[in-house]
Amino acid sequence: MNNLTFAIIKPDAVKSGNTGLILDRIIKSDFKILGAKLIRLSRKQAEGFYDIHKERPFFEELTEFMCSGQCMVLALKKENAVQEWRQTIGSTNPEEAETGTIRKDFAKNIQNNAVHGSDSDENAKKEIAFFFTNSELIANN
Ligand code: UDP
Ligand code: MG
Repeated sequence: MNNLTFAIIKPDAVKSGNTGLILDRIIKSDFKILGAKLIRLSRKQAEGFYDIHKERPFFEELTEFMCSGQCMVLALKKENAVQEWRQTIGSTNPEEAETGTIRKDFAKNIQNNAVHGSDSDENAKKEIAFFFTNSELIANN
């Protein structure tokens, strides 16, 4: 399925009070929200979620940051969702993010960069399944 993606409003953005503004961008960009939860990740969950980055030098700091406060996890639906959401959020580093993107407007730096977006359909599926049960999503589909 290429119409689903997974997003996180990261702890920096929740702490700064930007959850509502980012949800507004999601809705105005025509994503349908199939699932949304405000949660606080455990260290184990953060490490599991970012397992692909476990050899990277920033892994420890990243996982510590991701469980430093509440975040909102979201399952989003739109045609070509993965690519569309990556475009809406902009580059990983806000200094390189395009004008009008979420990271350009809300990210503090390359780590505290406000939002997550899946990088492929395969990972979107895995990441959604990491946080949502099928029945939670089907109910809103
Ligand atoms: N990150 C970091 N330092 C870096 C690169 C990435 O702290 O040099 C963090 C940042 O929060 C990023 C996450 O690790 O969003 C995952 O990195 P990835 O390269 O997958 O970027 P993304 O897909 O989130 O744009
Ligand atoms: Mg990534």
